[in-house]
Amino acid sequence: MIDLLVKALAVITMDDSHRVILDGEVGIDQGKIVQIGNNLGLTARKVIDAKNCVILPGLINGHSHVYQSLIEGIGYDMHFDPWNWRFLFPIVSKMSPKHARISAELAAMEMIKTGTTTISDHWYMHTDLRNIYEVTDAFDKAGMRAQMVYGLLDQTFAGERIESEYMTMIKTDEQLIQEVQKYYQEWHGKRRTTMALGPGSTEDISEELMLKTRDLSRELDINVSTHVAGWIEINAYTQRKFGERDLEHLHTIGLTGPRGVFFHAVWLSNHEIEILAETGSKVIHCPMANAYLGYGIAPVAQMLERGIPVGLGTDGAASYTYDLWEVGRAAAMLQKATHLDGEAITAEQILTMMTMDGARALGLQKQVGSLEVGKQADLIAVDFNQAHLLADGRFAPKLVYSAHGSDVIHSIIDGQVVMENRELKTMHEKRILEDAFSARQDLIKVAGQETRDLLAAPWPNHGAYWREIAQQEVNLNGNER
Ligand SMILES: [Zn+2]
Repeated sequence: MIDLLVKALAVITMDDSHRVILDGEVGIDQGKIVQIGNNLGLTARKVIDAKNCVILPGLINGHSHVYQSLIEGIGYDMHFDPWNWRFLFPIVSKMSPKHARISAELAAMEMIKTGTTTISDHWYMHTDLRNIYEVTDAFDKAGMRAQMVYGLLDQTFAGERIESEYMTMIKTDEQLIQEVQKYYQEWHGKRRTTMALGPGSTEDISEELMLKTRDLSRELDINVSTHVAGWIEINAYTQRKFGERDLEHLHTIGLTGPRGVFFHAVWLSNHEIEILAETGSKVIHCPMANAYLGYGIAPVAQMLERGIPVGLGTDGAASYTYDLWEVGRAAAMLQKATHLDGEAITAEQILTMMTMDGARALGLQKQVGSLEVGKQADLIAVDFNQAHLLADGRFAPKLVYSAHGSDVIHSIIDGQVVMENRELKTMHEKRILEDAFSARQDLIKVAGQETRDLLAAPWPNHGAYWREIAQQEVNLNGNER
């Protein structure tokens, strides 16, 4: 007698031999996959008969900032800089542990409901050092698998200097190193949670702390995960400061390698792609966030060509979604469009990025990413009995180009059913939505007049809605002077 048996229209294993098992079954016991195949003849304490569904490994969101889940849609259609200054800093600099927790619950709920089972959240919003504990506990209670990236910022946040009243999330390097060790003791390897170290970016962390971070990651044998060359300006910054491009510099100081996980990696030279390939470094591609902010398109096809493991990430509010299906589709479309080549990236490659390469990128490939006997049972069921998903045995293109997060009807993480027939088993949906709404109101209230003005701004006559308010401020400041 095993714990759980899942029966499906098809099982897409994502294993090395790319097996797709029609009328397949997956047997699960004590959190692990114990058998996969046809007519297994197993008896189980619980059976999920998903005969209209395609089963595949749970999706892996390799990069997010869930603290931004509460504030989507307040400042929009902006470049990164005005977005940070006018909108993000004034709100999030007042974030409390309570706000932190509900932001994670809200994001976790969206992720589970759209098929994500593993999240790697880069948490640097240390306005209160208890925040990250609340967030980790929220993911844990939701039943998710998490690789928490402990954010380290001792210098700036997105280039904003520490002198600003809003920089309440920046800490000293001694404090951060001490806090990281405390967090590691409490959470690393506990149930489904692991940790990585997360310098904000080359400009957000001092050289001294960057080197300490490198040494600590080697000592603890954990990933160093950081934003690299996500915006074009950062190469100018590192050229000026170090005489090298962003990734070149991280390579020089020893951060590349199998424990190096790089978010965005948009503005890379051919030489830098070569460095990633030769050192066995990993990349998390965030196409929606990069496109939305006007930051460009990462050279994903070239990276895959060179065998670099590339996972996918939503990033924070700049994606406007935690639905990884949308991110996968955006990744495909952008590569095809920019290369003027329908073969530039394939449905199978995108599905691999959403699952197995995501696991490789985070160093979790032995536990998750594919459905194989002995691996942890993280799997989702996509309902194909719908107008936009006509099943005919060729599932990958329909999954990548047609499926939505809302087509995921069951989700199992570590053998635990966290969603069945779209009903969440580990989270109270109504309570979370109510709490999230009041937390958002709370943050807006304390953020100040400019944020309220942004929210109240009328439909613009032309251009981005926030420009009219910005113009009024310029006039006001001019008059004062
Ligand atoms: Zn990010």
